[in-house]
Amino acid sequence: MPITSWKVGAGGTARATASMLDPRLIADLRAARRVVVFTGAGMSAESGIPTFRDRLTGLWAQVDPMEVATARAFRANPQRTWDWHVQLAEAVRAAAPNAGHAAIAALEQAGPEVTVITQNVDALHHRAGSREVVELHGNLLRLTSFVDEEAAFAAASPTICRVCDGYAVWEHCDPYAERGDLAAIELRAGPVPRCPGCGALLRPDVVWFGEPLAVDAIEAAWNAVDRCEVLIAVGASLEVEPAASLPWRALARGARVVEVNPVPTALAAQCHAVISGAAAEVLPALFAAIWPER
Ligand code: NAD
Repeated sequence: MPITSWKVGAGGTARATASMLDPRLIADLRAARRVVVFTGAGMSAESGIPTFRDRLTGLWAQVDPMEVATARAFRANPQRTWDWHVQLAEAVRAAAPNAGHAAIAALEQAGPEVTVITQNVDALHHRAGSREVVELHGNLLRLTSFVDEEAAFAAASPTICRVCDGYAVWEHCDPYAERGDLAAIELRAGPVPRCPGCGALLRPDVVWFGEPLAVDAIEAAWNAVDRCEVLIAVGASLEVEPAASLPWRALARGARVVEVNPVPTALAAQCHAVISGAAAEVLPALFAAIWPER
């Protein structure tokens, strides 16, 4: 069972938060030199970006994300998958970092070394000013080419496109195309665009269900988790591997682990404190309670 478990409602204050935390835990958190904040879709809920599993409203009510956020779905119907991501991109462009993102960015000024490990693809941590951010699942507003591995292996002389870094058949690669031509293409309504070099279909540079994470991203996450003394898990349902294992890895290494989520996850029974509430309300109060001198 966690050492401390309580609910923070609207208007939760630093003093109230401090009075509810175990003093030994406060001391451990305050002494930490390295902190990991691990965030999922709930982190951005109050910025207006829906989570996948909570509120099946609007965009999410029409289709199961699992059916459009996979390579198989893109191969079968690229336009449908593209259009679905366009709607998500519009929500991301309209969103702004919330008070929780700002509190995490400000925590860097309080002294500890802070690494944000996020499953989110909305770049709101960067926009809030966090400097050390590991984007485990990529960035929605960046495009990359769809690598059709079957076609690449079947090609007589597959090579790497110098514009998109995807597999290409060299004779199809436009020698006058440049990387900047690709960077200028955006995730907007319309036909699925193609790489200006090799002509491959473009897709958002995110990790779809069933795809592996970038090796450098998961290694950076493991390194940060293995070095941290405190991990704060915020708004993640912990149902998507391998990211879901990160809080358990921190626990196994002896770190203090705190969960912030209106709906406790499987982690709640094992971690040191569970704070039931919304990220934008809990995080500013929690950090002010632990690091009041900030
Ligand atoms: P999820 O949708 O599976 O779960 C969201 C979690 O957030 C739940 O545990 C829920 O209880 C919690 N939550 C809801 N509102 C909250 C709030 N205001 N404050 C704190 N917590 C709140 O999300 P997931 O576990 O992150 O996994 C889904 C995957 O979908 C991720 O890998 C991510 O890449 C992607 N995704 C990203 C975004 C984004 O970039 N903003 C949005 C939706 C989904």
